Amino acid sequence: MRISDTVIRQLTQAARESDVRSQHAAAILDKSGKIMAMASNYHFHKPINKTNWLPEGDYTMHAEEAVYQKFMRQYPHLIKLAKLKKNIAYILVVIRIQRGGEHCIHSKPCKKCTQKINKLIKLNIINRVYYSVNP
Ligand SMILES: [Zn+2]
Repeated sequence: MRISDTVIRQLTQAARESDVRSQHAAAILDKSGKIMAMASNYHFHKPINKTNWLPEGDYTMHAEEAVYQKFMRQYPHLIKLAKLKKNIAYILVVIRIQRGGEHCIHSKPCKKCTQKINKLIKLNIINRVYYSVNP
């Protein structure tokens, strides 16, 4: 499947809004290529209590993790369904943009995100992963 230009444009816009030096954005798409959830990476402080996260600080929430958390919050029933039915799995798209530039650059997930993604693949929630590469 080809990821549509519209999806890439929206991801590029989301990545531009990231406050992290290495600007990433990720989306979870359904089989038809429609965006179900989208998020960029961001900085945060460790939570003082479980409900309050400050949107700045030393820790970075990676785009892959951020988009999956959003997806889980919005569609818990779809995740349950995907685990049960083999033909429902979703698509993860990750991009990184060149800060201040026009192009996508290499965005292969880090080790921690790769482990997480592999788990989601095993659970039948995600079945394809696309990430941007250098032009
Ligand atoms: Zn990562």
